Amino acid sequence: MLVWTVANQKGGVGKTTTAVALAGLAAEQGLRVLMVDLDPHGSLTSYFGENADYCKPSTYTLFELNKNLTRAEVFKIIRSTKYDNLSFLPASTALATLERQAIGKDGLGLVVSRTVELLNNDFDLVVIDSPPLLGVLMINALAACQHLVIPVQTEFLAIKGLERMIHTLQMLGRSRKRELGYTIVPTMFDRRTHASVVSLRAIKNQFIEHAWAGKIPVDTRLRDASKAGVPPHLFEPDGRATSAYRSLLKQLFQQAAVDRKSSRAVASGV
Ligand code: ATP
Ligand code: MG
Repeated sequence: MLVWTVANQKGGVGKTTTAVALAGLAAEQGLRVLMVDLDPHGSLTSYFGENADYCKPSTYTLFELNKNLTRAEVFKIIRSTKYDNLSFLPASTALATLERQAIGKDGLGLVVSRTVELLNNDFDLVVIDSPPLLGVLMINALAACQHLVIPVQTEFLAIKGLERMIHTLQMLGRSRKRELGYTIVPTMFDRRTHASVVSLRAIKNQFIEHAWAGKIPVDTRLRDASKAGVPPHLFEPDGRATSAYRSLLKQLFQQAAVDRKSSRAVASGV
């Protein structure tokens, strides 16, 4: 099972859109996909027609159960969508209260890791949507994944936010056995604006190793798809954003294959 987290401490950069687009495309290819909404605002949850104000059980329940988590309990939380192979764990606004509760509570940083481990044979891909702030939820999302996708809006100040996110990764990385790989995904690129062109160049220059070679164009149909509650590739199969997300997904699968090979080599002492 592959586990990817989509995160950036900056808000409104296209995290939820990217999570849904990638998950939708992977499900279309026949993978059993689970999306996990860890944002108290529940954008992903409302994308699929549920309201995080009233959602129960939800990803908050995972934290309530904590040490008593079982596969059966997780399955009670999973919602299916209208689309084949595509399910999700919805968020609740109650998640916002976790930060306060987390202080001094043991094991709360690994709740999502334990959840996805329980589902190892049930899904092929888990995509976690993270809130735009560093706290117990983002820490859970980063601890649970094998690879991180960082959407970055192509605008002035993009690099600042990105540097902050990478600094966070380095801070958290010290407690991981293996360094967390990540892919930077430039989003909302508009080739007609100077800010987009300049910041895309800056991202690619400064983060040569980690920046994806492509970019997600600005495409208002993505907003329409979200309003309609339809994954982007079904809303606009031949859209520019859809084809960009297709090639991003391909790149992420290739990266996962490389990572798997190198971790097997490490395990066998090569
Ligand atoms: P938050 O930090 O609030 O969770 P986010 O990073 O998850 O935000 P999204 O909700 O995915 O960001 O996107 C913010 C808004 O921008 C949404 O209205 C979405 O439909 C729109 N959007 C996302 N990607 C694009 C794009 N490539 N072109 C145009 N609009 C986009
Ligand atoms: Mg979001």
